[in-house]
Amino acid sequence: MSGPVTQEDLDFDRAHIWHPYTSLTKPLKVYPVERAEGCIITLSDGTKLVDGMASWWCVQHGYNNPILNKAATDQLSKMSHIMFGGLAHKPSIELCKKLVELTPAGLECVLLADSGSISIDVGLKMALQYQNSKGRKDKSKFLTIRHGYHGDAFGGLSVSDTTNSMHHIFQGFLPKNIFCKAPETRFDNQDPNVEQIVEEIDVKPFKEIIEKRHEEIAGFILEPIVQGAGGLRVSHPYFLKRASEICKKYDVLLILDEVATGLGRTGKLFAFEHANIVPDILCLGKSLTGGYLTLSATITSREIGNEISDGPAGCFMHGQTYMGNPLACAVGNANLGIIMEGKWKNQVKQIETQLLEELGPLKDHPKVADLRILGAIGIVQLKENVNVEEIQKKFVAAGAWIRPFRNLVYIYPQYTTNPEELTVLTNAIKSSI
Ligand code: PMP
Repeated sequence: MSGPVTQEDLDFDRAHIWHPYTSLTKPLKVYPVERAEGCIITLSDGTKLVDGMASWWCVQHGYNNPILNKAATDQLSKMSHIMFGGLAHKPSIELCKKLVELTPAGLECVLLADSGSISIDVGLKMALQYQNSKGRKDKSKFLTIRHGYHGDAFGGLSVSDTTNSMHHIFQGFLPKNIFCKAPETRFDNQDPNVEQIVEEIDVKPFKEIIEKRHEEIAGFILEPIVQGAGGLRVSHPYFLKRASEICKKYDVLLILDEVATGLGRTGKLFAFEHANIVPDILCLGKSLTGGYLTLSATITSREIGNEISDGPAGCFMHGQTYMGNPLACAVGNANLGIIMEGKWKNQVKQIETQLLEELGPLKDHPKVADLRILGAIGIVQLKENVNVEEIQKKFVAAGAWIRPFRNLVYIYPQYTTNPEELTVLTNAIKSSI
């Protein structure tokens, strides 16, 4: 079973194994990988690459991290999994205590599931059960914004913008939800009248929909500040602030998908802190275990928790096999411990400063349409779509692991990336475009 990936293995992979968003008949090139240590990925042929993707935004403190390794091995010898029905255990309790401590007062009831997609489905179901329990049975739709992406399960897909993505094939099978335009005002808009601009361009159309249709809307769901897979847009926090106020007024629950932005990525522990608000339902995933094991959390207020619990169903109708998996919780607990030490703040700030310095000049490059940098996120939007296989070859030759999509070349480096490693990434971007 062990040993390097052989050509025979790769032939099997091509013929039998689905990779994310790929075709079995026209598979894209995959690179055989052997090890990952710190911020370095080692391919089977010995090529070393600086990790620019944090394994799709979930690794913060390095691969093969001794603290997370220890948490996993210690827990492994005690109990790798146990059913969560009727049993309670220390790893989940310690993890949830930290989550309750890290999130603002008012967010205190936690449901642990096994992926970001499911944390969204859970959040949507909680909103529906809550509204139902409140006697607002017509509040059975969700409002969301264009270009959003909330996972690959059916619930999350129903609030994702499938119109211009490959997911449109499922449109006929999805619950019909309501879409409004995504906020256009940029995060870095420096206009002294920026709030008026946001009010006019972004809040007005949102408010009109809520005023007209609030009686059928259970919740408003969005990725706060940074939209991920739907186009990596970075919006002004004032929209979120106003949206939160308007939702409150009309009994629409604010559900924030912080699966990608949570735990420091944008420079704040949670992206909603940029707007100084607290959501009704918060969905976390990806980085909870520092990229080790799959785990997610959906966190709500006591009021929502109690309302659901006392409602007609008498419980929250969700109970998956791997809920509260002790192994994932133990690693998540250790990872939150690292977060609580607080080093991430400076690390992310330094990455942001270096990205601004090193990628900033690309703004004037003839092939670049836009540049967006926030926290440990650097996005170069090109005027034309890239050929992923071709550009990835160039990145690998330059010692970088970066995987663009459409016209977006972006990096989400790990927080522990050192300045030299980060320069490898920014140089790779500069030279390849
Ligand atoms: N929401 C957002 C914002 C995401 O970026 C993702 C994953 N890219 C998801 C939900 C789904 O998470 P997962 O892939 O872990 O199911």
